[in-house]
Amino acid sequence: MTSLTFYGGVNEIGGNKILLEDKGTKIFLDFGKGFSRREKYFEEYLKPRSSNGILDLLTMGLIPDIEGVYRDDLMEKAGKKLVAPDIDAVLLTHAHADHVDYISFLHEKIPIHMGSTCHMLLQAIQDRSSSDFEREVLEYKQVHSKRGDPKIQRKIKTFRSGKKFKIGSLEIHPIHVDHSIPGAYGFIIYTSEGPVVYTGDIRLHGMKPQMTEEFVREAKAAKPVALLCEGTRITEEPTNESEERVYNESSKLVSSTNKLIFADFNFKDIDRVRTFYEVAKESGRKLVVKIRDCHYLKHLSKDPNLMVPNYDDENVVIYKPKYRSGTYANSDYVGDDSYFASLPNALTATEIAAKPDKYLCALGYFQFTSLIDIKPAKGTPYIHSASEPYNEEQVLSQDRVNNWLEFFDMQKYQIHCSGHAKGEDLFQVVKDIDAEMLYPIHTEHPTEYVKATRNITIVEEGKQYKL
Ligand SMILES: [Zn+2]
Ligand SMILES: [Zn+2]
Repeated sequence: MTSLTFYGGVNEIGGNKILLEDKGTKIFLDFGKGFSRREKYFEEYLKPRSSNGILDLLTMGLIPDIEGVYRDDLMEKAGKKLVAPDIDAVLLTHAHADHVDYISFLHEKIPIHMGSTCHMLLQAIQDRSSSDFEREVLEYKQVHSKRGDPKIQRKIKTFRSGKKFKIGSLEIHPIHVDHSIPGAYGFIIYTSEGPVVYTGDIRLHGMKPQMTEEFVREAKAAKPVALLCEGTRITEEPTNESEERVYNESSKLVSSTNKLIFADFNFKDIDRVRTFYEVAKESGRKLVVKIRDCHYLKHLSKDPNLMVPNYDDENVVIYKPKYRSGTYANSDYVGDDSYFASLPNALTATEIAAKPDKYLCALGYFQFTSLIDIKPAKGTPYIHSASEPYNEEQVLSQDRVNNWLEFFDMQKYQIHCSGHAKGEDLFQVVKDIDAEMLYPIHTEHPTEYVKATRNITIVEEGKQYKL
């Protein structure tokens, strides 16, 4: 028997956790964190407790209550009976938290398959973040471990686009897709009942639409029995957004002023990093990055295909934050921070403020205290290069962004290109692939897809669908 059970990504954007069973083989497609469902009960200072193992997460419905899946230490703490792992693998589409983060709770014997670029990104994310119970993907600390105890390493298996591999009765064909993070893949999975296609997150208006087009072409040729398609922006009308437009509009703005420029964007979006790096360079400015983001540049500059500069690039400056003593003393910086802060291209707020026309600061919302030290001139541009807020919490922080900008008399510009395809593009993908059955996921509006096909199953969470 072959079946699909959806434990996340149902009527919500992200949090995908899809169980595919085929004869004796069981795999999960992604195991992400569902932000909207987490926000219903938790926030920054109200978190699931590690002291309760997975009990808080299970009770509040953040992860499914199924056996043979979770870490022994977390099961024990939760007062649950220990069962040997009963999942053959997880197939990961990409390194966004809503697809990867809750792998943190899975048993370490379950192998995680991911693209090699995705692996590199997860290493960078791990290096730059402080330890977090809800983000221990590549390695984790047992809840009862003492200081100095080694971390438990997960079994990571990497793949490359186009190279098929087997897991039990399944043959997996990973194919790269274009999304707002490098190392993103879709899958064609050959089961005993026919091919199952999973898009992950996709777009067709980005820098490499040909990658998504190749995936769609291969998926169509496979004549799939099932298509699991994302629908984040299914209700949105077409616009002419593109990374090129982000580049052109930002470039025009930057070359029209001698003031300092602030750009707020997600550093995992490497296309965007490259865009602002190029915009800075062509206007005779240097890109100012946070110490934390040096970890990304360190890892990702190793891959020549990504074309990102390293942290010591001649057009990159590291923002040296004011820590403990408030005097930029060497002893204020510990670990990797002390290395990055000691580099000749690490500059303080005063040094940056002295030459406003020489820098483009990739310093966003979480570095707004830097404005107090930099004291930007009236009318200093702030480019918001991320999606518009879509939930209450984001609206609140957006209000706070506006308060800061108003306080410093800064000028806000919205210049962005999304990581997700819009309605028309998604309908076309579904029509092109033409699967026997469509299962819309990663969307709040699954029924919109009736505009593209009649062969549609509106998914119910936790229900098993036989293929
Ligand atoms: Zn997603
Ligand atoms: Zn994503």
